[in-house]
Amino acid sequence: MVIVWIGIGLGILFAIVMIKKIIKTSPKIPFKFSLYCKKCGYKTNGLKCPRCENASKHQSWK
Ligand SMILES: [Zn+2]
Repeated sequence: MVIVWIGIGLGILFAIVMIKKIIKTSPKIPFKFSLYCKKCGYKTNGLKCPRCENASKHQSWK
């Protein structure tokens, strides 16, 4: 049964390493995606894209 515990321990270690890697690499990607509009690349600073909102709604802005 010792082997089972070693396996569980290795599994937890592996999971921790993977989570750390994801945390290290992930903050940049959502930040980039939220800064710029996915569709047109307009800088939105995490807000809704005014260009694409205009395109979908047309007359509501003016
Ligand atoms: Zn856009």
